[in-house]
Amino acid sequence: MNTGTAINKLPLDNSFASLPPSFYTRLMPTPLPAPYMVAVSGPAAALIGLDAAALAEQQAIDILAGNAIPEQAKPLSAVYSGHQFGVWAGQLGDGRAILLGDVATQRGPMELQLKGAGLTPYSRMGDGRAVLRSSIREFLCSEAMAALGIPTSRALAVVGSDQGVMRETVETAAVVLRMAPTFIRFGSFEHWSTRDKPEELKILADYVIDRYYPALRVEENPYAALLAEVTRRTAELMAQWQSVGFMHGVMNTDNMSILGETIDYGPFGFMEAFDSGHICNHSDQQGRYSYGNQPQIGHWNCYALGQALLPLINEIPAAQAALDQYQPAFAAKVDTLLRAKLGLATARDGDRELMDAMFTLLQENHADFTQFFRTLSNLKAYDDAPDEDLRDEFINREAFDAWASLYRARLRAENSDDAARKVAMDAVNPKYVLRNYLAQIAIEKAQNKDFTEVARLLSVLQRPFDEQPENEKYAALPPDWASHLEVSCSS
Ligand code: AMP
Ligand code: MG
Repeated sequence: MNTGTAINKLPLDNSFASLPPSFYTRLMPTPLPAPYMVAVSGPAAALIGLDAAALAEQQAIDILAGNAIPEQAKPLSAVYSGHQFGVWAGQLGDGRAILLGDVATQRGPMELQLKGAGLTPYSRMGDGRAVLRSSIREFLCSEAMAALGIPTSRALAVVGSDQGVMRETVETAAVVLRMAPTFIRFGSFEHWSTRDKPEELKILADYVIDRYYPALRVEENPYAALLAEVTRRTAELMAQWQSVGFMHGVMNTDNMSILGETIDYGPFGFMEAFDSGHICNHSDQQGRYSYGNQPQIGHWNCYALGQALLPLINEIPAAQAALDQYQPAFAAKVDTLLRAKLGLATARDGDRELMDAMFTLLQENHADFTQFFRTLSNLKAYDDAPDEDLRDEFINREAFDAWASLYRARLRAENSDDAARKVAMDAVNPKYVLRNYLAQIAIEKAQNKDFTEVARLLSVLQRPFDEQPENEKYAALPPDWASHLEVSCSS
């Protein structure tokens, strides 16, 4: 049954194109030879009122590959700049992304962007392409994060082509259609402030406020309010990343959404054997973007945004006050999320110590982050006999027993009901996350033109909190071969 619109007939606007021409370059995607469908997300299609089944038609595949554009599309690539690994990098921009336009949805506007659609004026040394491997990773992780309830850009589909793309080895090209209310980044603001262009800076800030933060317009200093709101959202996003063990890998200011969403998936990873110093990006030799550093880097990035907005905010104390919201917002969100992960219904003295002791235990035993929290719900508050599956997560069983008895006492103090707590905990502690090895298996099959595993993995990750007995193996620890997997910036 056809319930949605075909992609070529999507009612597209292009609000971003209403900005002055200095903000972007209009251009067409570069055609990709003989594209084929790799994967589609039904929920992402539904979000923009698309008929997902019709995406399998050649006309749709041609649009997803950039060989044709929707009737109402006005394609463009945007300019931005940014700090990469803490160093000012100057102009960057959409080096391989092309915005087709935006579509109105029940949840507000959604921009449609093709990533890997060819050279743009901002490609610098790059080839404008993306490889199948990184495209599948971005696709799966976007949809997995959405299912985890974490603010993120979405991914509608991936198409591939046999066209070779040179990375460490020759790989093949692919395009992801990704979606977000906007792809404006911290670096979009840094671009104009570092060029000393206050007019453009104001145009951009006013555009973002009017379109995405209209409630801030009435504030005495709307630009300070914008910084405060973005700071708060970013702090909360970092808390959410930490709570599921997500590591972005490249938290450069050009990869930070002005809406506080997760964008620009690259060498990301999910924490497995817990190590707060874990670095998921093989190219990040200093570990700037390690798991444990993410919260402070989020703050650093907000400072870079604050610096960029300063000419508009005009008063240093107002900018400082906005940035000072980061720590309390992060701490409050972490507290809420950790309490839920532990199944604690109330807040009590000593909770912070209980949580700190838990992280020490995880760190010392390198327990699997996802499995630990998922199995923790099996612990019985009124029965000191340990849950063996849970206990097996720890090399030092005695250390676990000691922590477990503190935890049990804490649960008893609030008369916690084992059955109700398990339901509540399983609704916030995912069973299924995108482990690197799962992505790798799906990628290798797709590289051999078998796309079934990408679809199956997607369907597992779309229900991360559900017990899926038929998919039990997707919750397993990484096999030995996966310890050699390295994910770098190469994409
Ligand atoms: P990233 O950190 O991966 O989000 O990318 C940093 C910058 O490099 C952005 O401006 C990208 O558009 C650009 N870029 C990355 N890969 C390519 C590529 N293959 N071709 C052109 N530009 C690229
Ligand atoms: Mg980027």
